[in-house]
Amino acid sequence: MENAKISLYVAFTQYLKTVEEKGFKEAEQFLPGLPQDISATEVNNFFLQYRTFIDSVRETYNFQEKLAAGDLSADISCTNSLAEPIKELQATLKHLTWQTERIAEGDLDQRFQFLGDFSDSFNSLIDRLKIRGELERKTAVNENRLKTITSVLGDGIIVVDQQGVITFCNPEACKLLDRDEQSLLGASFHHSVHTQQANGRRIADSDKFTAITLKTKEVFRSDQIAFTTRGGSIISVSVSCSPIIDEDKTTGVVLSFRDISEQKKYLESLEYINTILKKQAMTDTLTDLYNRQYFNDRLRQELASYKRYNTQVSLIMFDIDKFKRINDTYGHLTGDDVIKDISTLILSNVRESDIFARWGGEEFVILATQIDKDSAVIFAEKLRVLVESHSFSINLQVTCSFGVTDFTANDNSGDFINRADMALYEAKQSGRNKVVAL
Ligand code: GH3
Ligand code: MG
Ligand code: MG
Repeated sequence: MENAKISLYVAFTQYLKTVEEKGFKEAEQFLPGLPQDISATEVNNFFLQYRTFIDSVRETYNFQEKLAAGDLSADISCTNSLAEPIKELQATLKHLTWQTERIAEGDLDQRFQFLGDFSDSFNSLIDRLKIRGELERKTAVNENRLKTITSVLGDGIIVVDQQGVITFCNPEACKLLDRDEQSLLGASFHHSVHTQQANGRRIADSDKFTAITLKTKEVFRSDQIAFTTRGGSIISVSVSCSPIIDEDKTTGVVLSFRDISEQKKYLESLEYINTILKKQAMTDTLTDLYNRQYFNDRLRQELASYKRYNTQVSLIMFDIDKFKRINDTYGHLTGDDVIKDISTLILSNVRESDIFARWGGEEFVILATQIDKDSAVIFAEKLRVLVESHSFSINLQVTCSFGVTDFTANDNSGDFINRADMALYEAKQSGRNKVVAL
């Protein structure tokens, strides 16, 4: 009897030691069974009570282990005081799980009441989520408002962030660029929209006006900008690009633009017409030489500067001899041809700085700059020989008479011209095909 007690005591001691050192599972093999040879009630009762206690501790341990592994559905059948607080914790965790699910579904009014510090920090996390949700809602409202406002504008609106990426565009921008919103948002502005200069050259860094505005924080304006549409065609646009400044930091730029291609074409054709009109106003239609009006204007300008700088200038006036005879013999059209031929002949022999014009009828003038009277006479003589020896389309020798004079300090343009005219008159009087200087 005593031996049986001792061997049970030893077996339980071995079991408890192993539980302490290695855990319940490893100790299992040492858990003693009911000794066969013992029937005494005292030992039996002792053994059964001891086993019951150990079984409930084991079961409680297993239950805790499942909870620790995250299995909130774990259950325990025995009712013992050891398991009660753990069961309470399980119930709390189950409730927190349910609350967290409600929060995930958007119910931010849930509040945790258990678990002390943990609840406090979880509740403040929910508060922050609430604030953030509110901000996001406000941002969405503002964005919607911005969309509505910009959708009624006649200008294209594009917002570009610090990296040059498009973050907003209004319907007009999509329309002008022939692109949908999805293809513009997230695209690099200078790669997909502003891809070339107005003259067709590639964009250099210095042409990236969004980057310039970001850096200088100044508004950039230009009507010399070209944008590329979806189909790759180019539109001329007038652009205004402003920085977006949030709390002293430039976070992006907003640009408004309008298509001025038609306007540009119209201006170009106006400019073209204008140059033609200008040219027409200063040229003679038959010879394409300067006309008398233009010559007089230039003469006044040039004489003013000659007076100031005291440089020399001479005037050569010449007239086709007996031209009436040519008209009478060959007709007016042939007469015209002779006038044109003489114009071409003389034009190819005057200097770039000379002003050669048709004075009227078969009479011409040359304002020869920076030469004195003697040099002008030599020059006129050269021209006289040139005409005299030129073979024209008609069977008649064509000659010209020349009057030469130089500009003097007391002259006005009228004096200057009159003197050249008088010299020409003298050349005619003294037999024609001559150069006379006054
Ligand atoms: P002179 O040697 O004295 O200058 O004799 P001229 O016959 O050349 O002079 P006149 O003034 O008598 O005649 C000039 C003629 O030139 C008269 C005019 O009909 C003609 N004429 C003037 N302008 C043109 C023109 O553009 N084309 C033609 N075919 N003839 C012209
Ligand atoms: Mg004549
Ligand atoms: Mg004449």
